[in-house]
Amino acid sequence: MDFTIDCDLLVIGGGLIGAAIARDAAGRGLSVTLCEEGDLAERASALSCCPMRDTAPAEDPVHLTTLRMAIAERETLLRCAPQLGKCLRVVVPQTAAEGSGWKIRSAIGLQNLLGKGGLFPASREVDLLHHAAGGPLRPEYSHGWMYSDVAFDVVRLTVLNAMDAAEGGARILTRTACRSLQRVPGGWEAVLRGEHGKTTGVRTRSVINATGGSVNAVLQDAQCDTVEAKARRSTQLLSTRHVGHEYAYLLRAADGRQVHVVPQGAGMALLSVISDDDHAADDDIATLCQTFNRYFTAQMTAADVVWSRSNVWLAASETPGKRQPARDYRLTTTTEEAPLLSVVGGSLSSHRRLAEEAVGKIAARLHSQGGTWTDQCCLPGGDLYGPVPSNRAVSEFHLYVQGAKQRYSWAPPLLIARYSRLYGSRLHRLLENCASVEDLGREILPGMHELELRYLREMEWAQTAVDILRRTRSGPLSQADAQVRLDAWITEATARQYAAAV
Ligand SMILES: Cc1cc2nc3c(=O)[nH]c(=O)nc-3n(C[C@H](O)[C@H](O)[C@H](O)COP(=O)(O)OP(=O)(O)OC[C@H]3O[C@@H](n4cnc5c(N)ncnc54)[C@H](O)[C@@H]3O)c2cc1C
Repeated sequence: MDFTIDCDLLVIGGGLIGAAIARDAAGRGLSVTLCEEGDLAERASALSCCPMRDTAPAEDPVHLTTLRMAIAERETLLRCAPQLGKCLRVVVPQTAAEGSGWKIRSAIGLQNLLGKGGLFPASREVDLLHHAAGGPLRPEYSHGWMYSDVAFDVVRLTVLNAMDAAEGGARILTRTACRSLQRVPGGWEAVLRGEHGKTTGVRTRSVINATGGSVNAVLQDAQCDTVEAKARRSTQLLSTRHVGHEYAYLLRAADGRQVHVVPQGAGMALLSVISDDDHAADDDIATLCQTFNRYFTAQMTAADVVWSRSNVWLAASETPGKRQPARDYRLTTTTEEAPLLSVVGGSLSSHRRLAEEAVGKIAARLHSQGGTWTDQCCLPGGDLYGPVPSNRAVSEFHLYVQGAKQRYSWAPPLLIARYSRLYGSRLHRLLENCASVEDLGREILPGMHELELRYLREMEWAQTAVDILRRTRSGPLSQADAQVRLDAWITEATARQYAAAV
C-alpha cells in the first residue's frame, strides 16, 4: 500500500462534529484530512430537529452551567453564520394550578441576565388569554412564559464548517470510508476506501474518531477499548394541525418529557420528543398526539400526520454517583504518544466548543502553537458586514437581503431571498458573472437553476440529487419528482464534463 497522504490529523466522520473539528484544526495550522463514508451531514446531523433545546428556562440549578453555555453559544453561532439561524419565540403554557412559579420565575430572570448579548427579545411572563399565542390553546392554559430560542439549519452548518476547513487547507474526502486503522511508531496508518473501491493510504500523527453512532466500530477496528454511550431517540412528526402563527411551544407530556411544537409554514407544524431508548417509537407518536391534544383546542388524529420518523443517536452516558459535568459530550483519548481521540455525544449547542477542546488536546501533543479562534471568524458567507462576527449581521440580516434584491434587480426577489438564506454573502460569488435570468441557466426545479446546481457540486461536495436536496430543502415538488429531475441533470452535466475533458 502506498501512503499518499501524510498529515497531522485524520478526522473520521463528516457530521457536524467532525466538520467543526476539521475547521478548528486547519485554522490552527495543522495539516488535516477528513474522510466521510457518505455525504457530509448524512446521518444524525441531517436529522437534528432544532431549536437548540437546552436554552429553555431551567428550574434545576444543576443545569445552570449548561444553560449559560448554551445561551452564549447560540449568540456566537448566530454571529458567525447569521444566514443559517432563525430566532423563535417559544411559549411554555401553564394552567392556573401549575403556575405557582417562583422557581421558573427566577429561572427566567436568570436567563435574561445570561442572555445579555442583546440579540434576542427577553424572556417574560405572558397572559395567554390576551395574546395571539394563546388563541389555539385550551382556555385553562391561561398564562405562561415566553423565551427566545434559535432554529439552525444543521446540514448547512456542517457543510460550511467543511468549506471553511477546506479553505484553511484541509483535505475533505466524501464518500470515503476509513476501513482500517493501525498504530505504528509515531502515529497511525489508515486505509481509506472511496467510491468504486479506490483505496488510499494515510499516515497521520493523530486521529479523531467523530463517527457518531459508529464510534465503537472504529475503536474495535483499531483494537482499542470501546467507550460507553447511551442511546437516545428523537421522534418527530409533521402535522397539518398547524398553530396558526409563528410562535413555537414547549409542552410537557404526561410522563414529564418535553415536547416541542414548531410551526413550519405552509400550514404545517413539526412536533418532536426526545427519549432515552426505553420507550417504543410507536409510544412516542402516541405521546406527541396526546400531548398536542391536551394543550390545543383542535385535536390531532392519525390523518393529520404527514410523516413521522424515529432515530437513535449516541449520547455521553452519565457516571453513576458522580456529579455530572455541564456538557453533553465526552472525549476519550486512547493513547498518549499518538492520540486517537474519540467523541461521544455532542450537540448543536456544544459542537464548536467540543471541537475547540478536542483540537486543543491534539494540538498540545503535536506542539502546535495555534490557540482557539473559531468564535472570532465568520463561517463562509456569514461575513455580511465584514469578516468579524457582529450583532449587526444578525439584527440587520433583512437589510442585507433587501440590498441584494436591489443589486440583482433583474432576478426574482424570492430567489435572491432564498440564496441569501442558503449562501449568505457567497451569493455574490454565485452571481458574479450574471446580468440576467438567462445567465442562471435552465430552471431544473422551480427556483433552482443550473448555476446553483453547479455551485453545489463544485463548492459543496454535492454529488447526487439527494445531496442537493439535503443542502437546499428545496421546492414544492415531492422529493421523488425532484430527485428524478435532478438525477437526469446530473447525468447530463457529468457526460458534458467528460466530453469536454477528452
Ligand atoms: C433524530 C435526531 C434528532 C436530534 N435532535 C437534536 C436536537 O434537537 N438538538 C441537538 O442539539 N441535537 C440533536 N441531535 C443530536 C445531533 O444531531 C448530534 O449531536 C450531532 O448532529 C451529531 O453529529 P456527529 O457528527 O457526532 O454525528 P453524525 O452526524 O452521525 O456524523 C458521523 C458521521 O460519521 C460517518 N462515519 C461513520 N463511520 C465512518 C467510517 N468508518 N469512515 C468514514 N465516515 C464514517 C457517518 O457517515 C456520519 O456522517 C439529534 C440527533 C438525531 C439523530
